[in-house]
Amino acid sequence: MAYDRDNIFAKIIRGEIPCDKVYEDEHVLAFRDINPQTPIHILVVPKGPYVSFDDFSRDASEAEITGFVRAVGQIARDAGAAGPGYRVLANNGADAHQEVPHFHLHIFAGQNLGRMIKPLDK
Ligand code: 5GP
Repeated sequence: MAYDRDNIFAKIIRGEIPCDKVYEDEHVLAFRDINPQTPIHILVVPKGPYVSFDDFSRDASEAEITGFVRAVGQIARDAGAAGPGYRVLANNGADAHQEVPHFHLHIFAGQNLGRMIKPLDK
């Protein structure tokens, strides 16, 4: 899938749409989800034009990948989530119900998050 420069997160990165920012550096922007699923629900996005984890993991530079991973950990610590625990999640593509076609990682925290995923029906 080609990158759509007019997706909602691209507009947030360019400052055309506001966000509740919690972190920003050269490669990364993080902001609170507009429809939080947990008391702490933060979205972490690389500033580069990546559709999903698939092309980010393949095409991003070492600096972008390292910066992104370190930022995720820092953001979770700064949110007070490292002690009690948190979950990181990236929806990739149609089967995962990815809604926004700009790679983003969710940080969920602030409550007991339960099991990771609904078990397979047996
Ligand atoms: P996905 O299913 O693509 O992993 O999740 C997209 C997430 O982006 C959803 O949790 C949704 O609430 C959030 N979202 C969609 N539009 C906006 C927006 O304009 N601002 C913010 N802060 N979050 C958004």
